[in-house]
Amino acid sequence: MGAKCEPAYANTFLGWWEEKFVYPSLSFATHVHAWFRFIDDIFILWKGSEEDCVDFFNNLNCNPYNIYLTYSFSASEITFLDLKIFPQGNGLATSLYRKPTATNSLLAFTSFHPWHTKVGVPTGQFLRVRRNCTRYDDFSIQARDLTDRFHQRGYPKRVISKAYQRARSQDQRSLLSSRRQCQEIQTRFITDFNSSWKQVSDILSKHWQILRVDMQTAEITSERPLMTARRAPNLRDLLTRSHFNRPTTRLNRGVILKGSFPCGDCNICPHMVVTRDFFVHPTRSSRHPLKTYINCKSRDVIYALICPCKMLYVGQTSQELRKRVQKHISTIHLAASDSRKGKARTPVSEHFLVHHGGSSANLQVVGLQKIAHNERGGDKRRILLQIESSRIFQLQTVAPLGLNEELLFTGFLGC
Ligand SMILES: [Zn+2]
Ligand SMILES: [Zn+2]
Repeated sequence: MGAKCEPAYANTFLGWWEEKFVYPSLSFATHVHAWFRFIDDIFILWKGSEEDCVDFFNNLNCNPYNIYLTYSFSASEITFLDLKIFPQGNGLATSLYRKPTATNSLLAFTSFHPWHTKVGVPTGQFLRVRRNCTRYDDFSIQARDLTDRFHQRGYPKRVISKAYQRARSQDQRSLLSSRRQCQEIQTRFITDFNSSWKQVSDILSKHWQILRVDMQTAEITSERPLMTARRAPNLRDLLTRSHFNRPTTRLNRGVILKGSFPCGDCNICPHMVVTRDFFVHPTRSSRHPLKTYINCKSRDVIYALICPCKMLYVGQTSQELRKRVQKHISTIHLAASDSRKGKARTPVSEHFLVHHGGSSANLQVVGLQKIAHNERGGDKRRILLQIESSRIFQLQTVAPLGLNEELLFTGFLGC
């Protein structure tokens, strides 16, 4: 059960399977005295011969749904989840079951959890042992084992002893009945845990009365506040990053902004085409979704230049987009003198010189895609080249339709 949805999915699927195949079967009606399922573990009380029991499972295992049940049966003792179940008198009794391979995974007392959390662990564990052991002898044996494990994890003797005494004094049957939910809804004060937790709690308790005496807040607050700590970031949160972190900018209220925008603070801003969510090809009218946020200052972007006669040039840059566009503008301005000096000109500067009098005034820029910084697999430069090539192909910008000289595949070649 890895993903969060798996138990719910397994429950739904097996519930359907029970209704459709298990309950209607004749063997179920004849032999199954009780059937309890916890997600995908089933405990069955079988009334009949072992052969019939094996037949029953063999029949259930003949299905096209990839459901295969492994099973074990016994007339004297069986383990199910964390329980050892065996007959006693006219009924069944239970004891605690630990897998032989189980390790001591109790929370270490040196952990930085709040004191009350750490102290609560032995209480909960000893009560669990008491609840799961029908016989007091079994409870004593399991409690000794648990005591050893708490010692190993650094718990003070008095903490263990207090928890043990509390569990010992409880009646096992009363622990089995489900606890009634507390009627009063407690007001929770939820915050990150920090070293001032105790002081915050004291201040809250000391001044809570202010909220209780106020006519308006009294109605929505409970007698006492309940301090709840958010889960602190663990090593997994700190060390792993999602591959799909999208470099988008959030507007107020969590609206995610995607598209191409001016930064509002540079000389390239007037050239930026403001386009949200889609880029519409100026001559073909095809719509191309924009999935990232880009402005003049974005780095690692694939961009398009649009000339006044609506021809497109697709390029990529790992520096700030405005720096790259400034270079394009400067080559456009220098095109005439470069031409006189016999210097090579770029397709863009050549086109602007020939068709637009060497003026960059009406040059437009649109950001098409930004590469995520944490993108895995292949280096950034390669990814930029690859996406550039696919955009050139997609937008049909190779001459004579556009201003790109050729469609290069360098990003896809070699390693
Ligand atoms: Zn700008
Ligand atoms: Zn043009």
